[in-house]
Parts: sequence; structure tokens; C-alpha cells
Amino acid sequence: MSASAGDPVAVIGLGRFGSSLALELMRRGTEVLAIDHRPKVVQSLSGELTHVVTADATDMEALRQVGVAEFSRAVVAIGSDLEASILTTSLLVELGIADIWAKAVSRQHGRILERIGATHIVLPEHDMGERVAHLVSGRMLDYMEIDSNFALVKTRPAHEAVGVALGQSGLRRKYGITIVSVQTPGQEFTYADANTVLQYGDIIVIAGPVDRVERFTELP
Ligand code: ATP
Repeated sequence: MSASAGDPVAVIGLGRFGSSLALELMRRGTEVLAIDHRPKVVQSLSGELTHVVTADATDMEALRQVGVAEFSRAVVAIGSDLEASILTTSLLVELGIADIWAKAVSRQHGRILERIGATHIVLPEHDMGERVAHLVSGRMLDYMEIDSNFALVKTRPAHEAVGVALGQSGLRRKYGITIVSVQTPGQEFTYADANTVLQYGDIIVIAGPVDRVERFTELP
């Protein structure tokens, strides 16, 4: 079944990652079927999640019984039990679920899940570690890698970027980055354009290849 944005989501494994994900999806108005094999976990979430059931996701019959086959989107949020993660993912592939997001605890685990047929791999600890490293080591206020070599960064403008209209600053040519938006203290974020003049105290969002945005945020 092909998947589209508003489709319900089956979330399998309700540890910290899976339960936060299921709750956030529900808050955003997406219908969720949440599954865990530990009755205690299911019971503790039954007040917050509308559809939460006890089932062993490594058992095809159990998956069918709870209706997972009807879903076009599913998240396998089982991490540390590799066997369960791999088996569950392969059963979802067998059921023909179009969009399968699988949590991995390592790159190797992720590669295996991808080979089995998971369409998206999430490496929460790894990704968060990388992100925090960027925040800790530089002047970045926030960092998001949107592709393997392209990032969006929230930061403060370097000395060189202040007091001159962006169109005349030559920053894109010189540093290979684009200033996307700007926030003057006390105001909301707005788009930056060629006439924008940055001030000290502004917060900016820049976009560009990872090494370029890193270099730009290290400028004095
Ligand atoms: P987190 O970091 O999100 O807390 P974790 O990786 O430490 O998760 P895991 O052991 O991977 O924890 O399990 C996540 C959840 O998946 C647990 O609540 C566990 O009960 C559930 N789970 C594990 N195996 C299965 C299974 N075969 N069927 C259904 N649920 C399962």
C-alpha cells in the first residue's frame, strides 16, 4: 500500500523513543496504533494513547491480528534487541507496508535494516551525539544536518556580516553559505534578503555544506 502524509502510523516498541514518538504523532493529529510486548508498558500508556495493544511484533499472526497489515506507515522503535528489530522489520516488509522507519543502535544495524527493506533508518543516539558535538564546539545555537553534506545552522553573525546589506556582503561567494533568515532581539524570525542588514545581537539561520557552515560559525 503506498503511503501519504496523513495516513495512520503503527509504532512498534514503546521504550523512551517509541512512546515519545507515538505521543507526539497523536498530539499532531495522526492516528496511531502503538504496540509493545510488555503488558505493563501498554497499561501505563493506555491513558495517553488511544490505540495501544500488547503483541509480540516478531509473530506474524499477532501482527495480523492487531491490524498492522492495514497500515501504509510503520515505525520499528525496538533498538537494543537486534533480533526482534530485524525480525519485526522483515515481517513488516512481508506485509507490504510501504513506509517503514526503523530505529538502529549502530550504523551496521542500520545497514542490515536497510538491506531487509526498511525505507528510513533513524540513529537517535548517533545523530544526537553529532548534533551536540557541533553545538558544544562552536558558536552554533542549533544544528540540523538535512542531508549527508548539507546543514541548517542557527548562530550569531560574524563581525564581517554585520552592518552591510547581505546583497553587498559577498558572503555567499566568499564562504559558500546562504543566510536564510534573521531574528532581531525581541522580534520574530523573518526571511533575509539582499537588503537585510545584520546587527550585533541578531540571530541568524544559515544553510550550506557542512564544512562551509562550520567554517562560517568559527569566524570572529
Ligand atoms: P529506548 O531507548 O527507546 O527506551 P531501547 O532501545 O532501550 O529503547 P528496546 O529494548 O529496544 O529499548 O525496546 C524498546 C521497546 O520495544 C520496549 O518497550 C520493548 O518492550 C519493546 N519490544 C522489544 N521487543 C519487542 C517485540 N518483539 N514486540 C513488541 N515490542 C517489543
